[in-house]
Amino acid sequence: MDKPKVVVFAPGSQESLDEMEAAGCELVLGSATWSDPTGDSQEDFVKMAAHADVLVGTSIKGTRINKDAMMASENLRIIAKYTVGVDEIDVEEATELGIVVSHAPTEANWGGVVESTMTMMLTLLKKTRERDAYLKAGKGWRDPALTGYYIGQREDGYEGMTIGIVGLGRIGSRYSEFMKPWKVRLIAYDPYVADERFAELGVEKVDYDTLLRESDIVSFHVILTKETHHMLSERELGLMKPSAVIINTSRGPVIDEKSLIKALQNEQIAGVAMDVFEHEPVELDNPLLKMDDRVFVTPHMAANNHGAGIGPGIVWGTADVLHALRGEVPEHVFNPEVLPRWKERFEGRSLI
Ligand code: NAD
Repeated sequence: MDKPKVVVFAPGSQESLDEMEAAGCELVLGSATWSDPTGDSQEDFVKMAAHADVLVGTSIKGTRINKDAMMASENLRIIAKYTVGVDEIDVEEATELGIVVSHAPTEANWGGVVESTMTMMLTLLKKTRERDAYLKAGKGWRDPALTGYYIGQREDGYEGMTIGIVGLGRIGSRYSEFMKPWKVRLIAYDPYVADERFAELGVEKVDYDTLLRESDIVSFHVILTKETHHMLSERELGLMKPSAVIINTSRGPVIDEKSLIKALQNEQIAGVAMDVFEHEPVELDNPLLKMDDRVFVTPHMAANNHGAGIGPGIVWGTADVLHALRGEVPEHVFNPEVLPRWKERFEGRSLI
């Protein structure tokens, strides 16, 4: 029996490669890496995917795992991601073709994003960078321009800020739990989450325009879909308070960057903290990287922490691949609607 072909389009760890090799897989490695996810051209990717049983890896930005890439092999049984996001995969096409897509929403990953969201919020509102730079530059002691913003409710009657959460999934809901003891007003927009979940979290359910009009902090935690692409553009920015700040740790294309830059230039909003960009790796001449302290940027690393990051996700992804190759349903399926068809094609048919 030929060895199953596993295309690792953006390798995770040596241990996972060793594990798949030891299980009898023939590995083909792509050129994308975690530090530079640009990787292979679309054409090379499709060539590499020919006759593959598995496509697996961390996020890639230069290539789409589209129908052509999937159709390069009749045997393809799983596309596995070591990370949460599957936005570089045409999931609907995969489902239609009977291919499982799996991903790795480990707490190490999404919990890390929540901690970074808190950090980004506080960095902007408490003027952390400005205070540090001021003192180190020898500009003196105390300056009213360095005054921060109080976030939570107080007994003296200050009502605290309104935090608007867009997308009340894993990250959005944990963020609400983190903020709850601060006694802020928590509102959220997520048409796919049941009213009971809002109630359970103590979060007020609002429509999107209300959230934009009433929030002091608007934090994006949606997955990237056709619907969420550019869900914050000129019209939506126009609804926001001039004192409001935006946090985006979800996916860059959720925000129309051109409109965002215009809104900052026109002082239509007060600030933005971004871990993700429309094009990644972000171009160094992106105007957002040249703006003043109202803009806080990080290189898509909200989930990356020592002992966490994508490490646990690589373990999940590798296990999903080996299950699929044994003809068993993997544990972390993103498109469960594919399973009846997948079982007909692959269940019980082990290649290792
Ligand atoms: P999740 O699937 O648990 O939650 C996403 C939520 O978005 C869901 O509740 C869904 O109902 C909601 N949603 C979908 N379409 C919507 C719409 N049109 N309007 C409002 N809500 C909508 O995902 P998660 O694990 O919480 O991840 C959230 C985002 O964070 C994803 O985009 C993910 O890729 C991203 N992420 C980023 C990093 C990073 O390093 N910056 C790491 C992990 C995840």
